[in-house]
Amino acid sequence: MNIHDRPRRRAAKPFAAAASMLLVAAAVLSAAACAPRKALPRAEEQAALSVVASFYPMYVIARNVIGDAPGVTLRNMAGIQTGCLHDYSLTAADMKTLEGADIFVVNGGGMESFLEKAAAGFPKLKTIQASEGIPLIEGGEGPNPHVFVSPFGAAAQTRNVAKALAELDPSRAAVYARNGEAYAASLEALGAKMKSRIAQLPNRSVVTFHEAFPYFAEAFGLEIAAVVEREPGSEPSAGELADTIGIVRKSGVKALFAEPQYSKASAEVIARETGAKLFTLDPCVTGPDEPGAYLAAMEKNLATLEEALR
Ligand SMILES: [Zn+2]
Repeated sequence: MNIHDRPRRRAAKPFAAAASMLLVAAAVLSAAACAPRKALPRAEEQAALSVVASFYPMYVIARNVIGDAPGVTLRNMAGIQTGCLHDYSLTAADMKTLEGADIFVVNGGGMESFLEKAAAGFPKLKTIQASEGIPLIEGGEGPNPHVFVSPFGAAAQTRNVAKALAELDPSRAAVYARNGEAYAASLEALGAKMKSRIAQLPNRSVVTFHEAFPYFAEAFGLEIAAVVEREPGSEPSAGELADTIGIVRKSGVKALFAEPQYSKASAEVIARETGAKLFTLDPCVTGPDEPGAYLAAMEKNLATLEEALR
């Protein structure tokens, strides 16, 4: 059990950068001064291009940006039901997928802990970090990588991916720019609608499971009173559970939000002990293989919040 830290931010850094502390202003300056990406060497215009996304949220973003760009294939390395890649190790099948790829679209910000290994194994593979230059919310264990859980964060990542794809593959730059802008605009429009509707709800305090929601909470003015499981698979101890039950009782939190991807066992115990109601909020780390899947999941999250927090 971890009480949500007050958000502090630092800019996302490339994974290979030194671990020295950077002032946000300095990071923004260096990002702005960053040399443009060198386009991939192309034998001919519109040569076939193979793009791999690390996991579901990046796959949905890349799918929208690429759209029907001719000659581009997109694969989702981890598969649509894998969820977050915290502590994920590359499999033999992943290595094979990356071997044939030109471009690897990743979340960055610490989500993919295997990036150095991938870079070392595939020196020609160009990596696009969707979180590059986006200020990250600082958590108890370093920067929180779940930028995409806010529609505004997903829009910023979409623009990053579109820009980087256009730089690496100039022959299709116009398609990426047009698709990326259209998808980012629809994410921001939905975010704005959610913001105005959630602002009208009387309750603002929630308990979540797995540290996926700080960006979502910040975007919509929600207060995360407690996070019960930091990462999938780590069940809270009896003592941590008792602490959370105490916090929920004391704070008067009426709504607990479990995630479809993770076990509801500890959430059910807390709900039973406190009388708070249990709902499902989707961080969109898994889902159907459809370009509109993220937008649909967020619409559902809005409906859930309107029921839970009224
Ligand atoms: Zn996660």
